[in-house]
Amino acid sequence: MNIVLYPDPVLRQKAKPLKEIDKEACKKIEEMMELMHHAQGVGLAAPQVGWSVRLFLIDVGGTSHGEKVFINPVIVEEAGELNKEEGCLSFPGIMSKIIRAQRIKAHAYNLKGLKIEIEAEGLAARAWQHELDHLNGELFIDRMGPSNRLAISQQLKEFERLYKGAKVPV
Ligand SMILES: [Zn+2]
Repeated sequence: MNIVLYPDPVLRQKAKPLKEIDKEACKKIEEMMELMHHAQGVGLAAPQVGWSVRLFLIDVGGTSHGEKVFINPVIVEEAGELNKEEGCLSFPGIMSKIIRAQRIKAHAYNLKGLKIEIEAEGLAARAWQHELDHLNGELFIDRMGPSNRLAISQQLKEFERLYKGAKVPV
């Protein structure tokens, strides 16, 4: 398992709900967790490892609920607005300011298949919005303002130049 980089087409697919949390899924999730921690990321969505299902990991520390695995997640409420620097493991080296809601309410299922309610703000809320976008085939570059997008256009072209097709180990 590897982290898939832009412009891999799996990043543009709308992911399907995860139907069953079976052994195979648990093993994949465990591998994703290792990859995310190794890459020092705070979030990783399943499509970023070439697995097109609605699931992501977020580990920002210090949350009261202690959950890190969010299956079939839905944001039900957004409030406020914050323009802050954001990165993505599928775009190593690129950081840009993105406007996101400051607070969110959401629900998802955890690894045990239990429905969990989430209230998040700050970094956790930002990570939720970023990772949920991944499940819909949306990327943070889509949300950049025109000048920020222009500022990274050369880096994006470099990613496109280096891209050799899907599922090639980096
Ligand atoms: Zn990302």
